[in-house]
Amino acid sequence: MASMDTLVAVVTGGGSGIGAAVTAEFRARGARVGVLDLDPGKPADGLLPVVADVADRGSLERAAARVAAEFGGIDILINNAGISAVGTVEANDDDEWQRVLDINVVGVARTTAAVLPYLRRSNHAAIVNTSSIAATAGLVQRALYCASKGAVHALTLAMAADLVGEGIRVNCVAPGTVDTPWVARLLARTDDPSGEKARLAARQPTGRLVTAEEVATAVAYLAAPESSATTGMSLAVDGGMSGLRLPR
Ligand code: NAD
Repeated sequence: MASMDTLVAVVTGGGSGIGAAVTAEFRARGARVGVLDLDPGKPADGLLPVVADVADRGSLERAAARVAAEFGGIDILINNAGISAVGTVEANDDDEWQRVLDINVVGVARTTAAVLPYLRRSNHAAIVNTSSIAATAGLVQRALYCASKGAVHALTLAMAADLVGEGIRVNCVAPGTVDTPWVARLLARTDDPSGEKARLAARQPTGRLVTAEEVATAVAYLAAPESSATTGMSLAVDGGMSGLRLPR
């Protein structure tokens, strides 16, 4: 495990699921972490929770300034906060399209703009966005969500191109279905939650859901100096779902 003990990270959506696992992984590697979330949890040694909304530019600027003042700078940004949307293109009205794109896509751009002034002062600056298999695979009943994560993938490439000259790397992870409170909430809305969970697990060639810790390990690799030659890439953490075609 590469040490991150001189580094400071900001994790959006760090109060739950994948973001909470990333925060725990970074703390285990010695990084200090600012958790920016609507519900960021409790403070602890090396961990600063800050209430912030990725839909609100002012709250992000204030949160970034607080983390930098507390820990002496910011080296790493994890753009992980996101919300789900279910349905075909006919299912969501214009307000819902605007709301989900505003959080999942514009939220990444907004948070990056708020944190970049601090990243520019770091010698190990890196950004990791949480995309999804939904960026590159057509998932049934997920039109708006797929569109939002496709945009996160494209934004990762554009940001990487714009920032490579300044030594700032930008990559994304593309998880399959991860066992988090998010998925538990979606399952609870179905008629047969345990049957649906088994179906989601079977969709991934490994035959199980991905764990939040497995995604966190991939995020830590892309965020740490050990991946110093990697930028503009998407790392699938999806149990083989995007790459493998197994005989039925
Ligand atoms: P989660 O619901 O467990 O956690 C999401 C966190 O984001 C919550 O703490 C929530 O409070 C926070 N959040 C939501 N809106 C916010 C806002 N406007 N501002 C600040 N914080 C906000 O979800 P998760 O499963 O951990 O998902 C995290 C990310 O991973 C999302 O971007 C999601 O699209 C992506 N993802 C999840 C899965 C999965 O199967 N769980 C798969 C692929 C990608």
